[in-house]
Amino acid sequence: MRSGYCGRWALFTAIGLAALPALAADLPDAMPDDNLNAVLWDQTSVEAQANALGAYALGRIRLDEALADKTWTAAPVEQTGNFQDFPPAIILDVDDTILNTSPYQARNITTGTSFKPETWTQYVNAQQDKPIPGAVEFTQYAASKGVKVFYVTNRTADEEGPTVEEMKHFGFPMGDNVDTFLSAKEQPDWGSAKGTRRAFIAKNYRILLMFGDNFGDFTDDYKGTVEERQKVFEANKAHFGHDWIAIANPTYGSFESAPYKGDYKLPPEEQRRMKQNALTPWDGK
Ligand SMILES: [Mg+2]
Repeated sequence: MRSGYCGRWALFTAIGLAALPALAADLPDAMPDDNLNAVLWDQTSVEAQANALGAYALGRIRLDEALADKTWTAAPVEQTGNFQDFPPAIILDVDDTILNTSPYQARNITTGTSFKPETWTQYVNAQQDKPIPGAVEFTQYAASKGVKVFYVTNRTADEEGPTVEEMKHFGFPMGDNVDTFLSAKEQPDWGSAKGTRRAFIAKNYRILLMFGDNFGDFTDDYKGTVEERQKVFEANKAHFGHDWIAIANPTYGSFESAPYKGDYKLPPEEQRRMKQNALTPWDGK
């Protein structure tokens, strides 16, 4: 029996039936939300924090290795020509790679709402993020080694001011005289796919490492079906834990939309059905 069942039963018997109405009254009015466990994990679990610390500790080891090897690049598609003597750089995504945005996801659960650009911008302006464990210390370590730390984010130019202010407050290195915060659409060809921004950095820097919580933080081939994404993953597997380091994020991302092929116009119940169909259940035998 999984330990969760034992725990639930113990809780049920310990509180007794008389306590149940009070317990129910404490619950928010929101409808059941498929994101509850994922956001709970992201916002409250020590496991999420432990996972991130591990990723950034690995980052230090890989950074030292990459600095010592001038043929090393984390961007084989974008990094062409003689990059060996370029100054070193690393690229990190922002949302849920270096900043934890779980208060926004949690609010959507408790108010029964979902992602909207307007409420997202309001959230960014409210500056409620917290640093992902290990991220500040790791980026400071990289900067201390003379590595330029770039942030490639799909936050917009409008959202850049409050975000940069927040990041400075936390102690993230902000590039001194170089613009290291590359937001979406800051230049005409900088779309939500990040390859053009990686290529922009690769023109002047040797890219040592990339960090992200979404497949699109590493490759532009992230939008396909579950099977297509798996194929791209297999082809790039050797990067992970080496020069591409992933931060776990079960709360949103291209993994979530892959089963319904990114068709956000489908009714939620249809998206949900397609996600259930993407599961591989045990047949009970
Ligand atoms: Mg992200």
